[in-house]
Amino acid sequence: MAGELILIIEDNEKNLKLVRDLLRVKGYRTLEAGTAEVGIELARVHTPQLILMDIQLPGMDGVVALGQLKSGPTTGSIPVIALTAFAMPDDRQRFHSAGFDGYLVKPINIRELLEVVHTVCERHNPQSTPLRGT
Ligand code: MN
Repeated sequence: MAGELILIIEDNEKNLKLVRDLLRVKGYRTLEAGTAEVGIELARVHTPQLILMDIQLPGMDGVVALGQLKSGPTTGSIPVIALTAFAMPDDRQRFHSAGFDGYLVKPINIRELLEVVHTVCERHNPQSTPLRGT
């Protein structure tokens, strides 16, 4: 069974590679974008099951990009998790208010990342399960 398709929007190549490799090892399929503009286009064309979105991006930032995704007819229901270097106490509320379905603080905690991805994919698509045991 093919794993869920996950779009990663992240301009830091090391972070992008880390997240991509982790997800692929677990059996997910990935799409990658280094800018919000490219990411939104990929989301429209491929309608991934989940989007992991960096906040600080060149050009359009992650919060503005989220607004465009959430208001798009084909992308509006895709859950979006923020990847952020910000770790202020009110960030949870801020990202929630912006419409994110969750957030992960960088540097990425591997177990937390996989747990959040798994939880969101199960919630939105209980029929399919990514490959496990690797
Ligand atoms: Mn960034």
